[in-house]
Amino acid sequence: MDYRSTRSEFRCNCLDAVLKGIAPDGGLFISDSDIGKGFDWKSVIGLNTLGMAEKILSHLLPDFKDMKDLVNKAYKGKFETEDLTPLVKVGDKYVLELFRGPTSAFKDVALSMLPQLILAAKKQTGDDKETVILTATSGDTGKAAMEGFHDVPGTRIIVFYPDGGVSPIQRAQMATQEGSNVKVCAVKGNFDDCQTAVKMAFSKINSMKELSQAKKALSSANSINIGRLAPQVVYYFKAYSDLVAMGRIKTGDKVDFTVPSGNFGDILAGYFAKLMGLPVRNLICASNENKVLTDFIRTGLYDKRRPFYRTSSPSMDILVSSNLERLLFLASGCKPETVSKWMADLSSQGFFQVDEKYMAVIRETFLSYSCTEKETIRTIGDVYKKDNYLCDPHTAVGMKVADDYKKDNKDDVPMIVLSTASPYKFPTPVSEAIGLAVQGSEFEQIKAINKKTGVPVPKNLSSLESKKAIHNDVIDRENILKYVLSVLGI
Ligand SMILES: *Cc1c(COP(=O)(O)O)cnc(C)c1O
Repeated sequence: MDYRSTRSEFRCNCLDAVLKGIAPDGGLFISDSDIGKGFDWKSVIGLNTLGMAEKILSHLLPDFKDMKDLVNKAYKGKFETEDLTPLVKVGDKYVLELFRGPTSAFKDVALSMLPQLILAAKKQTGDDKETVILTATSGDTGKAAMEGFHDVPGTRIIVFYPDGGVSPIQRAQMATQEGSNVKVCAVKGNFDDCQTAVKMAFSKINSMKELSQAKKALSSANSINIGRLAPQVVYYFKAYSDLVAMGRIKTGDKVDFTVPSGNFGDILAGYFAKLMGLPVRNLICASNENKVLTDFIRTGLYDKRRPFYRTSSPSMDILVSSNLERLLFLASGCKPETVSKWMADLSSQGFFQVDEKYMAVIRETFLSYSCTEKETIRTIGDVYKKDNYLCDPHTAVGMKVADDYKKDNKDDVPMIVLSTASPYKFPTPVSEAIGLAVQGSEFEQIKAINKKTGVPVPKNLSSLESKKAIHNDVIDRENILKYVLSVLGI
């Protein structure tokens, strides 16, 4: 399977697509042919998670030689549970816990795999340049990426996050990151400012001859990298397989998924699973108060000219959802000129309008609802009281939206809600929601939540308090380019 750009006729194999991260024209890489062609989806149902990952990733990224070995290196012994992403029944829904990895966020599933893919791609292509990962994070990607890349030979990673735009625990996770090849820096402004500035620095530096002269090449750990998206497809099959094993469905029955969304990578992986044959009926896109995606799916108008809210689900505080571009490409009937026009409108005017005929394709699968701050907090409390399950604010947005959807669609199709973070990553809103007095540091709040609920605290978070902050840089976004060049010594 070859990959192509969403904005031009540029094509390359999957090894290069993973190494480049983004196409030279600024487009995203997407499969050049029908993504489901030649894939027997039923053959992965019933396999263990690593076996599934091997088969699915071999299909999506066929040029990698020993996928089994890469999957084992990425995942064995790194997650709390051997099946990586457990499915648990909560009330009338199923929760797919994606946060059992080394940094307690769903990003771990993909970012444990990405370094293996990059190393293997370099080896296979004879690339001896240092890979420099440049990443903007709304809180979770940065830590998960550093966890994956720290001290990996031949790589370097630089992470930028919005100053004050991540939770204190998320900040502590990043500021204490050890490793000789990592650098973390806060940027004044919100995540969109940060992401846009990093993207601009990325393309500027990428075109500098000093970069290749220094034997370095840039890549991205954001979900624009196909090497990050592909591993996320696996857990959709895994959840489905679990429902079959539980006897809740028979192979071939349809299921629905609700996905707390920001950059649209997680939910897009679900669409890939559907295109590969998995019987997915609807993908319900859940937004917080930054509901640009909800409005888009409902109206066809994508409009980022709106107030930006800081919410208790910061990893979804996003107004420019990069991965939507891949869905738009597919919905347009694979027309790069059409996608380029929409993207140009977005950057020059702040909005674009998609015709009804394309929206109809999108709405065959995607539905959308949003959830307010008040509802998020109330849902954490309600789910805890009613079902004795403690969820984080991002997951709560999903739970509320799944309920709203079920009110409009009363039938027996199982609903799987993707749970994207541990509740202990966001102790302040969780404390408030379950009726604890919010006091002391977030570390003290973690202890209080644990005392009240008995839910175990992930080790990586409980050990954080005693670690020293090493990274304290804060810069203006105009200085990102200079910052990167100085870290790289060019
Ligand atoms: C990144 C993230 C999301 C959003 O996922 P996208 O792929 O960006 O849509 C949701 N919840 C948490 C906790 C995250 O870290």
